[in-house]
Amino acid sequence: MPRNIAILGSTGSIGKNALRVIESLGPDNYRVLALTAHNSVDLLIEQCRIFKPAYVAITNPASAAEFTRKYEQTGTKLLTGPDGLVEIALMAEVDTVLTAVVGAAGLPAVLAAANAGKTLAIANKEPLVIAGQLLTTAAAKSGAKILPVDSEHSAIFQSLQAGSAGEVQKIILTASGGPFRCASREEIYNATVSDALAHPTWNMGPKITIDSATMMNKALEVIEAKWLFNVPVEKIEVLIHPESIVHSMVEFIDGSVIAQLGTPDMCLPIQYALTYPARQKGISPHLNLAQLGTLTFASPDMQTFRALALGYQAAKAGLSAPVVFNAANEIAVEAFLAGKIKFGNIVEIIEYCLDKHNASSSISLEQLLEADSWARNEVTRWLKQKSL
Ligand code: NDP
Ligand code: MG
Repeated sequence: MPRNIAILGSTGSIGKNALRVIESLGPDNYRVLALTAHNSVDLLIEQCRIFKPAYVAITNPASAAEFTRKYEQTGTKLLTGPDGLVEIALMAEVDTVLTAVVGAAGLPAVLAAANAGKTLAIANKEPLVIAGQLLTTAAAKSGAKILPVDSEHSAIFQSLQAGSAGEVQKIILTASGGPFRCASREEIYNATVSDALAHPTWNMGPKITIDSATMMNKALEVIEAKWLFNVPVEKIEVLIHPESIVHSMVEFIDGSVIAQLGTPDMCLPIQYALTYPARQKGISPHLNLAQLGTLTFASPDMQTFRALALGYQAAKAGLSAPVVFNAANEIAVEAFLAGKIKFGNIVEIIEYCLDKHNASSSISLEQLLEADSWARNEVTRWLKQKSL
């Protein structure tokens, strides 16, 4: 029987790669049961023609109406609005939910899948950052498997198989350093949208590409690793590795360091999350280390890339601090992409919100969501004041 896969966010960068992987693995093994999009109706229709999913969900109602006008839905049922993602995550026929939505918008569906005991192939890191404890507790209770798709976390997951949890000395999370690795602070502060979108090694969606330029992405990944692998942040170290070949490493107590290497291509970690624990022939190009010749490493500059220092601070503070850290970034990145603020303002806004925030007293979903809205409103106020 083929495994039934639901891809939440099939029209994004991860979603499109996931469909390429599934196509290459073949319909006898993997079946696309459900796809979801927010706005990209034409692309979703193209995907429906090829993969013939039983369900699609479109979170933006206006786009759902456009889909109905443009696509004759024989055999495909349309669900409309954000609840459609939750409905899909809970469907009895769904075996694996691949979460590739961007931002906190993915949280309700990820949480629903974790509570329902599904296998979660998780690319959407923001829900883990803001509700890591709730998600991992829900998964432990229901028996849901959470498999990482993020390349660094897939590398850590693979490397951890070389020892037991008690034998881990530290996790070494690699980072390309992004497009501004060698830039001055002033150049970084005033960087344009196209400068910031020009990632040197990875081809990804706009939000994570900006996050890589601020190194916010690495900060989010530190928190993501903490929850995925149940390791305190003090044991997670960031290492700059501009070539993006060593995707991350685990150091064990005897001094052995186990790493996973590969070309910078998301199809590889996506496939491993789908085929785990097996490995199958894939579509990612294989490494040629002799051709590469040299791999380089350096310590991160936490002063220039302040987002990284703030990430550790938020992770250590816990409770609602990571929620505020993430939500402030989401709104600030949107504002930067819309040309409303400078690149340097993004991290200033995050720090402003973290300083102003009174931490919640618990990690109940209600309190976390309250902190999320508080931070979004706070950034919106900041932006309004600035434009006066
Ligand atoms: P994209 O922006 O390329 O795609 C996002 C997807 O989410 C699209 O399908 C989009 O639909 C949908 N979407 C957007 N807004 C909403 C919303 N409000 N509600 C529901 N769905 C929505 O993002 P990426 O593929 O780059 O990233 C997805 C996630 O994976 C992120 O959390 C990112 O951090 C993580 N990730 C990405 C990597 C990459 O290589 N891209 C690597 C590692 C992690 P539509 O197209 O219709 O707007
Ligand atoms: Mg990553």
